[in-house]
Amino acid sequence: MTKPICILASHNAHKLAEIRAILADEFSRVLSLSEAGVDVDIEETGDTFAQNAYIKAKAIHDLRPDAAVIADDSGLCVPCLGGAPGVYSARYAGEPCDDRANNELLLKNLREREKTLPRDRRAYFVSAIALVRPDGSSISGEGRVEGEILDEYRGDGGFGYDPLFFCTELEKTFAQASADEKNAVSHRARALAALKRALHS
Ligand code: IMP
Repeated sequence: MTKPICILASHNAHKLAEIRAILADEFSRVLSLSEAGVDVDIEETGDTFAQNAYIKAKAIHDLRPDAAVIADDSGLCVPCLGGAPGVYSARYAGEPCDDRANNELLLKNLREREKTLPRDRRAYFVSAIALVRPDGSSISGEGRVEGEILDEYRGDGGFGYDPLFFCTELEKTFAQASADEKNAVSHRARALAALKRALHS
């Protein structure tokens, strides 16, 4: 049976590389939005990562109903900050997305809180991935990875909150981890594994 083409609803080169590495054998080709010739601005209006992932996948599928479409939504949740930055992770410090400003605001908010409350640096990344098939049916997967937020930046790799996120399992920050190390435990890898299980069930 011929494997379908898959369009990945993301412009983020890091995510594309991670998702391609994991899903390469499921589809004949995995295309980025630009490779698929799709140019669309989608508003992420959902309250949850899963809702946003589906909203994005469905919007692309409406434009390219011939292909399978995968979209993800992800972010960092810090329980002592009420789950923030959460679904606002990319624009925590405002638009456009500025990783350094987001990290600085996160540290500022944690330090502010710690003036009156006990230190609690627990955090986790969440990824929700939705797949809309050519026939319009959909499946999804979600994954998490636990860690804590450091006081200082460690490592030069990765993106987003990686230099501040000390991954419990790796015992280093995501910015200190190699791509293979991060792919072995990351929220996105786990969401993709869950999606793969759903694909084959
Ligand atoms: P999205 O593109 O709407 O999924 O927004 C994701 C945002 O969450 C990114 O801009 C990052 O700030 C953050 N984020 C998600 N996954 C990661 C990761 O693996 N490392 C670091 N930051 C991440």
